[in-house]
Amino acid sequence: MNDPAPAKPRLSVRHLSVHFRPRGLVAGLRHGRILAVDDLHLDLRRGETIGFAGESGCGKSALARALAGLTPMTGSIRCDGEELAGTAQKDTTALQRAIQLIEEIPLAELKLRRRVGDIVSEPLRAQYPKLDAKQRDAHVAALLMRVGLPSELMQKQLKELDAPTRARVALARALCVQPKVLLCDAPDASLDAAQRESFIELVVELAQQLDLALVLFAREPLALRRWCSRLLTMTLGKVMEQAPTDALLDAARHPYTRALLTQALEEDAGVDGKSKVKSLPPPLQHPPMGCVFHPRCPLAESACVRSEPHLRRVGPEHYAACHFVG
Ligand code: SF4
Repeated sequence: MNDPAPAKPRLSVRHLSVHFRPRGLVAGLRHGRILAVDDLHLDLRRGETIGFAGESGCGKSALARALAGLTPMTGSIRCDGEELAGTAQKDTTALQRAIQLIEEIPLAELKLRRRVGDIVSEPLRAQYPKLDAKQRDAHVAALLMRVGLPSELMQKQLKELDAPTRARVALARALCVQPKVLLCDAPDASLDAAQRESFIELVVELAQQLDLALVLFAREPLALRRWCSRLLTMTLGKVMEQAPTDALLDAARHPYTRALLTQALEEDAGVDGKSKVKSLPPPLQHPPMGCVFHPRCPLAESACVRSEPHLRRVGPEHYAACHFVG
């Protein structure tokens, strides 16, 4: 008997780039645009959880917002084989229905006296305008219970809630339109470490129950070990390394990933180490020529300044963008 055909990836991303124009003049800016994400490719299966790690400004948030249809991008985003973005498509409705980003609720929302029910049902009203108020309320009540909150919370104002409850409200809002892919970008900065861990645990549990593909974003790769089957590291909008989680964390090949891991271990141990990644990355508007990590890389040679390395296979399902990793 023939093997069944492999299922289409839940999410398939090709040549995704995000450019933006800075406000005002920026001296020396190439092409007048800043490149926040550069030619990213990604495949994700149903029920799979993967993670992106990288320091602040590495492009994680721009990538998350582009995938969720919240910021302009070029390239292709397919969900279950269906093109949702395409370079010519301007309408992001289908993209926003299929892929939802759990975002911290902006401070401005807290100041407004909006009810939890209105905040959670916002995507529902945008995507399914024909639903009446009763249908929306029933859906929101069920969602609140699904994320472990009482349905009566619908009537409360956001500002009456503590940070862990607000994070769950943001999760309920992301689930509201029954997405196929969920993105979770560093949840509420006001959560402490234990609250953040328990929030991510809930996100992962619900993603598994609902058979969603899940992408987590974090500064440190080690913070993602427990949840992800695969990790990618990023700097200046480019993927530096991609591998199964244990391979990346226990046998990182790329100098940038190694520096990220060393830095996290030093911080945990309270040591002020000499890790090169501690220096700030060059500004996005002035990316280095060649390998973008070369100004901070302890192994850099002249070839690293002359030419840009591209991701290539360095082990089973293991890829690195470095001239000297074999
Ligand atoms: S290509 Fe060169 S600069 Fe870039 S990571 Fe490898 S050794 Fe370092």
